[in-house]
Amino acid sequence: MPSFLLSKSFLHLNRKSSLFHHFSMSTLPTKTRLRGVVFDMDGTLTVPVIDFAAMYKSVLGNDEYMRIKAENPSGIDILHHIENWCPDKQKKAYQIIADFEKQGLARLQIMPGAAQLCGFLDAKKIRRGLITRNVKESVDLFHQRFGMMFSPALSREFRPYKPDPAPLLHICLTWEVQPNEVMMVGDSLKDDVACGKQAGALTCLLDEKGRYGPHDFAKLDLTPDFKVSSLNEVYSLLESNFDLTP
Ligand SMILES: [Mg+2]
Repeated sequence: MPSFLLSKSFLHLNRKSSLFHHFSMSTLPTKTRLRGVVFDMDGTLTVPVIDFAAMYKSVLGNDEYMRIKAENPSGIDILHHIENWCPDKQKKAYQIIADFEKQGLARLQIMPGAAQLCGFLDAKKIRRGLITRNVKESVDLFHQRFGMMFSPALSREFRPYKPDPAPLLHICLTWEVQPNEVMMVGDSLKDDVACGKQAGALTCLLDEKGRYGPHDFAKLDLTPDFKVSSLNEVYSLLESNFDLTP
């Protein structure tokens, strides 16, 4: 069962619904309209195959990796770390990252439930977008393998990337919808949930292994509106919480 976490808008709806009960049992509260869902790619639409720890170690060297890891218990933002390196060093780092991403692509697998969820969204005429910190080449290959397109699909070439809200706001503008009519779904609290929250969108954390708890949410001051352990849980969550009338 998808767990329902804290959401101001839902608290508001619940309050409203209890008021309604005083007047008429038959009056149902209006549910939020959902116009689009934006997905993260690696670890959300695809099974995680990139060994990020090995990638970071390879880019930073073991000692630097251990130091930065200790300073960032919620995870390392490797792109951010190499942003201000000198061009030569940076070029090498990007090459290492690209190699790891390529190895990941060779073993790319679609996440169970992803195709069914997208079919469900299509049937409800809810738009599908994608935001990744991976490169465009990977997104192109993912589209080929997946057989369904996400549009817009923004990759690392779109600056600034997640956790900045810019890519999500760009998608909302393109779709001509408000951020609060859109849900960001991803497996990273510090990138996907942070991006969604800052944009003013609804957020759903995919936490397959139960890595995250209230303590992590409090530490980063980032509480997703919803948490699921599989994409298969998303459509029942959407059906019970949103107005999905096409
Ligand atoms: Mg991810």
